[in-house]
Amino acid sequence: MNSYNYNDLLKKVQDNIESKPVSDDRFNLPKAEIFYEGNTSVIKNFDKISDAVNREADEILKFLLGGLGTAGERSGSRVIFQGKIRAESIQGKLMDYINNYVICSECGKPDTHLVKRGRNTLVRCDACGAIRPLKSQKRSIEKPSIILKEGSSYDVIIKDIGKKGDGVAFHGKFIIYVPGAIKGSLVKVKIEKISGTVAFARPVES
Ligand SMILES: [Zn+2]
Repeated sequence: MNSYNYNDLLKKVQDNIESKPVSDDRFNLPKAEIFYEGNTSVIKNFDKISDAVNREADEILKFLLGGLGTAGERSGSRVIFQGKIRAESIQGKLMDYINNYVICSECGKPDTHLVKRGRNTLVRCDACGAIRPLKSQKRSIEKPSIILKEGSSYDVIIKDIGKKGDGVAFHGKFIIYVPGAIKGSLVKVKIEKISGTVAFARPVES
């Protein structure tokens, strides 16, 4: 007969509770060590982070580049992003990745792996067996990354005239000042200097 009396059940429950790891093994992601070199932002310990979450470094990088809207590449244990990106932004995107692609929403553990089901990617937990879809992938990819590079040329529309008489154009998150440009005109400009999200350009002959 396969039934249990109350004491058997109680013992079973207690055994189960005791066999669970003490709940102090919360997931500790190695903090991204970020520093700046020239006009680039570097994560020094990117390999440690990808090891800790057990995901391909390239996959994580792709997510970060999309989210941060910048270009970048891996170099040994590092990742180098174009431009100076606030450490909080990088850290924040990293957490977005981990919350979406790594952490089990049921038990909070990072012991998961990704499973493909048709066109969907699911996160399956090795610890508790829970399975969930990725949270809206579209939103985490955001807009196509719009970048601006010093020395490169872009076609911009002069939307406004600034206080000092310069034409003002917008490109992604950047404001571009173009001296001598006429409001409403389409101008080919060369970016001479970028400071944060403000760029200074001059018109070029197309
Ligand atoms: Zn789980």
